[in-house]
Amino acid sequence: MDLMCFEIINSSWHITHEPFFDPLQDKRWVADFLKKWGLENHGPVESSHLDRLAALRSFLTAAAQELLSGAVLSEKHISEMNRYLALDPYYHVLQFEADRYALHKEPTTTGWHVVEGRIVHSFAQLIDRFDLKRIKLCENPECRWIFYDASKNASRCWCGNTCASLIKVRRFRSRQKENRV
Ligand SMILES: [Zn+2]
Repeated sequence: MDLMCFEIINSSWHITHEPFFDPLQDKRWVADFLKKWGLENHGPVESSHLDRLAALRSFLTAAAQELLSGAVLSEKHISEMNRYLALDPYYHVLQFEADRYALHKEPTTTGWHVVEGRIVHSFAQLIDRFDLKRIKLCENPECRWIFYDASKNASRCWCGNTCASLIKVRRFRSRQKENRV
């Protein structure tokens, strides 16, 4: 499950892995991110926005770690989340598209605050609608990305196929080594 909030949280992976950069300090990365999630119409990305985005990532990372430890979100994190959610007031618009009706959300204002509200909304929606036990950290020690396990029996340990095959190959090799001794 591709989630806006996970993309922001997992962006910190690049800080400690080659070629070492912080995506949230890279205006092009941020512009691509906004485009991907349909948030490109909230003005040009400014340096102050990048700092605010980094602060938002720290907040979401701390909240996610709290959930991963099995705890309930602290009062502090819940009120911080509500502060962010209030930044994105919206109304609904009904449209007829091709052969069906569709209800769209439109923000009542535009600006960077909407971007922040939407990212946090993606996290709040996840914990409201989905199974918290399925929010996991990838077991590949070089990855440790946060992901949502949507598999049938909730047994997935890896964020994606790349990590899954990497670990399988590694386990196979270590078993081969053991067999040789
Ligand atoms: Zn992974």
